[in-house]
Formats: sequence, structure tokens, C-alpha cells
Amino acid sequence: MSGLVIKTVETLRVKWRPEDPPGLRSAFVRVITEDGLTGYGEASPMLGGEHSLGIVDRDLAPELIGEDFHDNAVLYDRLLHKCVKLGPEGAVTGALAAIDIALWDLKGKALGLPVYKLLGGAWRTRIPFYSSIGGNARRTVDETLRVVEARLRAENPAAIKIRWDGDRTTQDADVAGDIAKAKAVRKLVGGDFPLAFDANNLYSVGSAVRVGRALEDLGYIWFEEPVQHYDIQGMGEVARKLDITVSAGEQSYTTQAVLDLIRAGVRMVQPDIVKMGGITGLMKCAALCQAHGVELVPHQTQPTLGHMANLHVLATIMHMTKPAEYADPSGRMDGGFVEPLRPEDGHFTLREAAGLGLEVNAAELEGRLARP
Ligand code: CA
Repeated sequence: MSGLVIKTVETLRVKWRPEDPPGLRSAFVRVITEDGLTGYGEASPMLGGEHSLGIVDRDLAPELIGEDFHDNAVLYDRLLHKCVKLGPEGAVTGALAAIDIALWDLKGKALGLPVYKLLGGAWRTRIPFYSSIGGNARRTVDETLRVVEARLRAENPAAIKIRWDGDRTTQDADVAGDIAKAKAVRKLVGGDFPLAFDANNLYSVGSAVRVGRALEDLGYIWFEEPVQHYDIQGMGEVARKLDITVSAGEQSYTTQAVLDLIRAGVRMVQPDIVKMGGITGLMKCAALCQAHGVELVPHQTQPTLGHMANLHVLATIMHMTKPAEYADPSGRMDGGFVEPLRPEDGHFTLREAAGLGLEVNAAELEGRLARP
């Protein structure tokens, strides 16, 4: 048994490019056992991931040393409740997600099996994706069309989502202009191509309903985060008023918060594996969604460890109604991995390698480390 215990827990602040400012980082954890097995996990990189990694260093790592890594779910809840008064909605669950993913990576490596096998097996290992295209609030109609066209041609996705990413301190800034962009993108991609619209929380309830009606006319298949994420009632009101599927949940950090959205009337939820619960948390959400007849379509914008962990969970979901999110084609983190997972003809294919199936290029990663 002694070899199964955790020996070290390290936090890695990884630069994407040498010149990037501190806010642009990936936030990884590396857990090593007494036997020398190594597992990797990823936390949400918001504001550089510094806050979640700080919690790992200060509050989680000391409690994990000497523990059996197979006890990941017990460790998760013990540590969540240790830190619960910091507020479980954010940096704490990002920290716990990174640890959970790393412990699943270890469990897979210890047993010589891919994580999806440990989760009960895959319905599919070839997973279609949608191209998630951000920053459109700042673009003209023509600029938006050019970006959409380039991603469509390069990636051959199963669907496209246009995200607004506007200024979060404004509301209803250009409703007519937003509808005009949605209309132009529909015209560009043609009749039945699956399109989604992500408001990134920038509408009032009234404007959200107006935009939602336009999206229904244009045949969009979902309308994401129309109002502020913390306005659970407003999100539910928009969802109940519209026929188009309204989605939310990328800013929900616990299964209870996801349940609140479902109870309010949201019928498609989007928790993110690097923000809430890691692999264990997302599997709990899958059960919650199946029980309530709600679509689970996880948010996921981190191109390496988080992405891979997310795909392992998606592989196990029977009713996978929408493709996986693919947000970042830059290849910014590819150098940190021996064989990074690249898209192929609109799909990602999971490997049969043990754990997450993503081998780290330790020397390259070492060269990208930033100090806390
Ligand atoms: Ca979103």
C-alpha cells in the first residue's frame, strides 16, 4: 500500500509565450506518489490561475501528503469543507478540480487504463466538436464573418458558436447590431448549419427575449448565458419564455449551483471541469442532468489537460446532444506535451493510453515556468 500514497504536490504556473503578462498562464498541478507515478491536473486559469494555485500550495497540498490517491472523492469533500468559508464559488473549487484531475490521471496510470474506462466505459472515443469563436462584440459584421469563415474552413466543425465577450459593466449595448451579426453569420454558413449564440451575460431580460426570438427565426440551436450568471431567476425566466434552448452554468462551481439553474428552468447546463469538481464533479453533474432530463454540454476552453479530462467525461455520457467545445486553435500549449491532442476533421479522438493519455514534455514545461 505504501507506494500508493502521495509524496509531493507541486503547482506549475506555465507561460504560453515568453512575452505574455502574468494574467496569461495555464495553472497546472503535478502530484507524485511514493512509487514515482506522476499525475497532472489543471485549474481554471482566470487571472492567471494564481488564486487557485495559491490555495493548493497553502491549504490543500499539506493535507494530501501521505494520503492514498485512490481516495480522491473523500479528499475532495474533506478539503472543500476545510475551505468552505473562503466561499466555494470560484478559486477553491478551481484548486480542488486540479487536484481531482491529477488523482484520476494517477489512478489510470496505476491501473494501466484510460480514465474513461475507470468511469464506466466510453459510448464513443471519437468526439465531434464545435468551433467556439470569441470576441465578436468588438468586431464589425464583416470582421465577424471573416473570423467565422476562417475557422469553418480550417476546422470543419460540427457547429459554430459566436461569443460576444463584451464589457461586463454594460448591458444591452448594441442589441440591433448583435442581431445583425447573428443574421449575417446565418447567411454565411447557409440554411441548416448548426449555430449557437453566446451573449456572455450582457442582456437585460427584455433584450434577451428579443434577441432569443431573432435567433429562433434564424434557426440557431442554443442561446448561451443571456443575462448575468448570478441572476438565476432571470436566466430561468428567459429560458421559460423562449423556444430556443437557453444554456448557462459555466460560472457554477458546485452541483448545488447547477441544480439551482435547472430548478429555475434552464434546460442545458455548461459546468467546466477546471472550475467545478474536476472529473468527479462533472460525473455528478452528468447524473444530475440525466435525472432531470437536462442537456449537459460542458464549457471547456483550456487546450491541454482540462480539454483532455473533459473529453474523457464526454466519452461516458450516453445522451451527448451537442458537440464538445473547441475554443483555442492557437496551439499555444502544444510544446508542453509530447503528443498534443489535435483536432482532425471536426473531431478529437481519445487515446487508449493510461490516465488522461497526455504525456508531458517535462523539459519544455520547465522552460515555461513562471514564479508565483
Ligand atoms: Ca460561454
